[in-house]
Amino acid sequence: MHDRPRGKRRPKRTLKPDQPQPLRLAPPPDLSGIEPAPAFASLGLSVEAAKGAAHAGYTEPTAIQTKVIPEVVAGRDVIACSETGSGKTAAFVLPILDWLEYDAASIQTLVVVPTRELCQQVTGEFRRLGAAQPLRVAEIYGGVGYDGQRRQIAGRPQAVVGTPGRVLDLLQSKQLTFKDVRILILDEADRMLDMGFLPQVRDILRHVPRDRQTLMFSATIPEEISRFAEVTLSHPVRIQVGVRAKPPAQLIQEAVEVNSSEKGRKLLEVLQAEQGTVLVFVGTKRRADTVHQGLTRAGLRACVIHGNRDQKERDKALRGFASGQYRIMVATDVAQRGLDIKDIALVLNYDLPKSAEDYVHRVGRTGRADAVGRALSFVTIAEYSTLKDIERLTGHAFQNFIPVKSSLGNRRSLPRRRW
Ligand code: AMP
Repeated sequence: MHDRPRGKRRPKRTLKPDQPQPLRLAPPPDLSGIEPAPAFASLGLSVEAAKGAAHAGYTEPTAIQTKVIPEVVAGRDVIACSETGSGKTAAFVLPILDWLEYDAASIQTLVVVPTRELCQQVTGEFRRLGAAQPLRVAEIYGGVGYDGQRRQIAGRPQAVVGTPGRVLDLLQSKQLTFKDVRILILDEADRMLDMGFLPQVRDILRHVPRDRQTLMFSATIPEEISRFAEVTLSHPVRIQVGVRAKPPAQLIQEAVEVNSSEKGRKLLEVLQAEQGTVLVFVGTKRRADTVHQGLTRAGLRACVIHGNRDQKERDKALRGFASGQYRIMVATDVAQRGLDIKDIALVLNYDLPKSAEDYVHRVGRTGRADAVGRALSFVTIAEYSTLKDIERLTGHAFQNFIPVKSSLGNRRSLPRRRW
């Protein structure tokens, strides 16, 4: 356990003369005409950071930002439990951008995340909010070649965002060193636990100086995460925003009863009525491909993302969905977290997830940062008990859900689609 006194600011490090001067990759945007967002400045951020927030279109801090930013600025360790889509990334990125020494060519901050998608999202937030700074951030994740990541490391980043496996791999082969890391962020810690990454995270921690500030973000704090936090963080401030494991408050949630053979037809009906972007969650990779093919055959602009698709295909699908090239994305739970695409109008659970917690993460893809979103779930008789679990966990009663078995007679006469 390190013994940095609570509330003490991190000492500023000075640039050693033998350190190479940073390479400026692109000219920064001119923020001179931008008014700093005053609400951000009042949290202890600099004028530059408040301008970065305003430039990104953030005028008011979200609840988690209001609570977390002053603690990070004060140098304290933090465990934050927050709603999905609450703005937690900017809650750590903004104060870190203020604190980084841009003249130093060493890795000063490390963000460990569970998935490649979250890795790209966090890196994107660093680049967006730090657009006016000479920031170099490397994104390190598995499933792709090493060359591009070696080049990023050779470019002397001040910040690294990475998934545990690849980060450890590069650490063990001495291509990465974290001896100068002073702020460590463990993002979506519960997800890392679920995915079996905790042993790798522990190994990574052995390479990070003990004299550091640690921030941990997690949607839920199960017992194991709590124990892990005890040995990893020092006198952490605990921050909880919103009620644990709840979907965004402004989300409209509905459920309809369907039988398995009519899901395909129902989906087409919903997609005809809904003109905005739709994220369709399905239970298996195979099902994802079948549903995707069905939608494409019906002439809809749809893409698909699941664990069997390689990184290039996943990136292409995500980019196409984010840019509007595809209106619909079919996904397995690989896309459940860390997917940050603005304006998803509807999350549709074609199959209910296995657990109520997964439901919360799925529907958190819409209604982000105070926008109104909608979630619709198809529920078969076999899934009633999961729906009840969801109601218990979220406290939301699906008022309009009527499991009308009597209407099954009518449905049998409808044309069936086997997807
Ligand atoms: P996160 O919880 O970090 O994944 O953020 C969810 C979404 O909220 C992202 O699209 C952010 O760009 C957006 N966001 C973060 N902070 C703010 C803010 N203060 N005002 C408006 N949008 C925000």
